Amino acid sequence: MADYLISGGTGYVPEDGLTAQQLFASADGLTYNDFLILPGFIDFIADEVDLTSALTRKITLKTPLISSPMDTVTEADMAIAMAKFEQGFITDPVVLSPSHTVGDVLEAKMRHGFSGIPITETGTMGSKLVGIVTSRDIDFLAEKDHTTLLSEVMTPRIELVVAPAGVTLKEANEILQRSKKGKLPIVNDHDELVAIIARTDLKKNRDYPLASKDSHKQLLCGAAVGTREDDKYRLDLLTQAGVDVIVLDSSQGNSVYQIAMVHYIKQKYPHLQVIGGNVVTAAQAKNLIDAGVDGLRVGMGCGSICITQEVMACGRPQGTAVYKVAEYARRFGVPIIADGGIQTVGHVVKALALGASTVMMGSLLAATTEAPGEYFFSDGVRLKKYRGMGSLDAMEKSSSSQKRYFSEGDKVKIAQGVSGSIQDKGSIQKFVPYLIAGIQHGCQDIGARSLSVLRSMMYSGELKFEKRTMSAQIEGGVHGLHSYEKRLY
Ligand code: IMP
Repeated sequence: MADYLISGGTGYVPEDGLTAQQLFASADGLTYNDFLILPGFIDFIADEVDLTSALTRKITLKTPLISSPMDTVTEADMAIAMAKFEQGFITDPVVLSPSHTVGDVLEAKMRHGFSGIPITETGTMGSKLVGIVTSRDIDFLAEKDHTTLLSEVMTPRIELVVAPAGVTLKEANEILQRSKKGKLPIVNDHDELVAIIARTDLKKNRDYPLASKDSHKQLLCGAAVGTREDDKYRLDLLTQAGVDVIVLDSSQGNSVYQIAMVHYIKQKYPHLQVIGGNVVTAAQAKNLIDAGVDGLRVGMGCGSICITQEVMACGRPQGTAVYKVAEYARRFGVPIIADGGIQTVGHVVKALALGASTVMMGSLLAATTEAPGEYFFSDGVRLKKYRGMGSLDAMEKSSSSQKRYFSEGDKVKIAQGVSGSIQDKGSIQKFVPYLIAGIQHGCQDIGARSLSVLRSMMYSGELKFEKRTMSAQIEGGVHGLHSYEKRLY
């Protein structure tokens, strides 16, 4: 009764739904279809929902979507197309101080190919913004003026158009267009420089406003390696090619082999971000976090092509796996990827609401134009092949897929996946925007303006969940129609 006591206004609202902690308190393993999220309060438009999320300790993506490292999902076309959806702010630009010289600007221009450089008190990011030097400021200077201090030529802070930290990329782009300037510095409350956006990038990215690039202006790219000796050679080649993040690809990542590989990579390439996995328990996660991983991939047996649970008797329903591992890993600042079992955009929202920072998708992106392989027709339907990396089919063709699923000494290969086909989905240029808009609408219904708000609502207990019985699940789908067409976007 206490719940219903009136306290002025319209009174208390009774407690309703379960917190995530309560939802996962029971012994049953749950997956995405077993629960729903109760709607919250909307006071913003869906378009405004900020989907920025961490992939690893150091890499942030503008959209939380990753394609699986599988030979029927991701090769160059898919990687490039996915990366173009994720461009953010330049958070690590060349910065100089007022006591640097025009010569320093020219040198930076030679090395980096641009000349609009923000000037801060100490010449580093995070220090007070005092001006900007563009080519217009220095072009008129004669050769002998290379020693001129930047304090004398820079456009001072007072004349600069800046944007506040927290501004969305879209707003920042609009300000840049209105101001007709080449660079837009982003500053925090203390007027310290936290990022910049460049007009040249904006022009380049007009078609791809969310593309993510690394400090070398290359699209962000990750690559999977195994844990054997010859993977060290692959690792060297990948780093030479500018890879930003390495994924240690194993269906059960809690092993001495993976821990040794994490140590090896961290020692040889200390700045390379390493994602470990796969794991589904906090105990597995602990060993890899202790070894030094920067992110974790979560999922065992939940993939659409996967027969691991059937064959190995190991695994975990994906909702429980994501919640348990994320809840543990966040204490160490390690983001997690919900990998596999994503069948709908609603599943993406649920994975993120359970604490995942990003989601990895195989079947959802398979059979798109950008997925490897040719289309073929079967019974008049246009299809592309999609197969598990642990299927016999994949392992016969590729030794790298064998490594994910077999130990060196294995005499008999035990398949952990199947090989099949998926109907043509068209280009991800249409499909990914649908996913992005779908996630934004889900967050809007929940009342979360950003993915970080979504996660903090979940951990504070404000976000409420409810289990669904089988009949509730049927009710939640289309039912009672003689026929219907399901067009999604
Ligand atoms: P999906 O998005 O449900 O299709 O699952 C894709 C995920 O399944 C991948 O990212 C891998 O983690 C996992 N996976 C890929 N191949 C296999 C396999 O042969 N057996 C089990 N899991 C697999």
